[in-house]
Amino acid sequence: MNHQKSEALFAKACRYIPGGVNSPVRAFANVKEIPLFVDHADGAYLYDVDGNAYLDFICSWGPMILGHNHPLLVNGMEEVMRKGISYGLCTPDEEHLAKLICDAYRGMDMVRMVNSGTEATMSAIRIARGYTKRNKIIKFEGCYHGHSDCLLVKSGSGALTFGTPTSPGVPEDMVKHTLVCRYNDLASVKEVMEQYPDDIAAVIIEPVAGNMGVVGANASFLKGLRALCDEYHSVLIFDEVITGFRLAYGGAAQYYGITPDMACFGKIIGAGLPVGAYGGKKEIMSCVSPCGPIYQAGTLSGNPLAMHLGTLLLDYLKTHPHLYTELADKGHYLKTGIEKLLQEKGLPFQVHQCGSLLTLFFTDTAISSYDEVKTCSQDMFTTYFHTLYEEGILLAPSPYEAMFLSDAHTKEQLDYVLDKIALALDKVKRL
Ligand code: PMP
Repeated sequence: MNHQKSEALFAKACRYIPGGVNSPVRAFANVKEIPLFVDHADGAYLYDVDGNAYLDFICSWGPMILGHNHPLLVNGMEEVMRKGISYGLCTPDEEHLAKLICDAYRGMDMVRMVNSGTEATMSAIRIARGYTKRNKIIKFEGCYHGHSDCLLVKSGSGALTFGTPTSPGVPEDMVKHTLVCRYNDLASVKEVMEQYPDDIAAVIIEPVAGNMGVVGANASFLKGLRALCDEYHSVLIFDEVITGFRLAYGGAAQYYGITPDMACFGKIIGAGLPVGAYGGKKEIMSCVSPCGPIYQAGTLSGNPLAMHLGTLLLDYLKTHPHLYTELADKGHYLKTGIEKLLQEKGLPFQVHQCGSLLTLFFTDTAISSYDEVKTCSQDMFTTYFHTLYEEGILLAPSPYEAMFLSDAHTKEQLDYVLDKIALALDKVKRL
């Protein structure tokens, strides 16, 4: 595959942008590649500046649940743009989107729009601290909640991929209140709660982790967290930036039947435009300025373009519930297909799939937390990634990310992918 134009653009970009990229995972560095420069995308396909076509399983890291360039969203964008791009004032779509989110999500009385998932989780933590008048928070190793200081501790996603799960530049003082527990290990949470019974403001978790690869929480673990938060009067926050409106219309809360006190969203609720949101019980959200004293604001928050596309997409998802069953079917089809191939080849593996999210871990260790994730082979993944990339199949360039399925992916395309995976696994086997 020819990547000449991408190479030239990358060389130029490196002069002006650190690493040539505006977010580290786009660097493709850990799979020893240069970044892909995109020209356009349509349906399930992405086209780079060299004219190569890829079946896209990154899907903008989650938002493109209908695939790219969906007419509903493209037409909606054109329509709303003609009215003006940003006012910094209220619009009807803000109310519409807030209502859609509150109606969809268990226990969500009120929601505040922000501009990214990072802002959503950062703000939710502040509100939880202000509400409880406590300092400490519990997060889980391998979960990623964006790059705000107090959450960038033993995190997943790019921080994990590039070997800096706890970033330099975050003073120890800023993270002294961040306590890290093991995912799926309730005893580790109980221990910390018992140690600081009056000072845990919040427990924040990805109910299905997508940033150390896909690792689902055991239902009993989540139920246990809910009970511990009730017992110690801590705020339980579900980070549904990936899972919200993807795992189910009502996110992981619906999927597990568990109601958190607060939840954070991003990605799908903006249909691909920069957006985030946090919300929860009225009692907690009433503390947010100007209702209450806890300050949080944003010049572009509730941006008219993002709000309009968000309402169009959520309205569509609400009225097409079969889409979730179909996505889960496709996920299951791919999982069983990949497992069969791996068994035939006699390779070590764990395939985790949850709805439209999937990760193949090259390890024979059963995975339920970050410790086990670390046992998977980067070399095997690199070979696997490269073979598929050369065949025009685009996976996230890291063993610690999810493969995202969209409504635009067809069964025929998945069969094509399985054929190519067979080829890739032959190469992995020869390593
Ligand atoms: N939470 C989760 C679960 C995420 O996956 C991400 C980003 N992938 C974030 C928070 C941060 O979102 P953003 O990149 O929009 O700041």
